[in-house]
Amino acid sequence: MPRTHGVPRGHKKRAERGPAGRPPSQRPTKTPRPPQLERWQAIIDGKTCPICLDLHGRIYPKHEGPRPPIHFFCRCQRVSFAVIQ
Ligand SMILES: [Zn+2]
Repeated sequence: MPRTHGVPRGHKKRAERGPAGRPPSQRPTKTPRPPQLERWQAIIDGKTCPICLDLHGRIYPKHEGPRPPIHFFCRCQRVSFAVIQ
């Protein structure tokens, strides 16, 4: 009795090693994020104190630098934005 398992002869010996083992070279560890920055935004009018006037428009990294309010009735805020490189 011939031993046939439904596999035609000569069709084996191929795909023993498929392209499964990919080299782990291009694995993204962390998506590089643009630095988070914040700009000091003062309300410029007649009551703006010189400190805030001086700080107005300054750019700080998100977790660094002074944070409003820096005095009584300070109306400043820090507006965050991302730098697109
Ligand atoms: Zn202020």
